[in-house]
Amino acid sequence: MTADKNYYTMDTQGNLKCLKCGVPLVKGKAKFMYLDNGFPVELPVCPICGFVYVPEELALGKVLSVEKALEDK
Ligand SMILES: [Zn+2]
Repeated sequence: MTADKNYYTMDTQGNLKCLKCGVPLVKGKAKFMYLDNGFPVELPVCPICGFVYVPEELALGKVLSVEKALEDK
């Protein structure tokens, strides 16, 4: 995997910023699509361009447990 996919940057305090717009990402409602389902999640999003920061653990498989939790209702 290459590491040049940087749409955000993190400052020393751990705050995420949109690299394109140069503004801090804000917590917002986002929809994480998995297969044919959209799961509502709260993630840092850019208020200007709408870029959604997806944490690696969410992108790399935690979505399976999200789906499980919904089925168990
Ligand atoms: Zn942006």
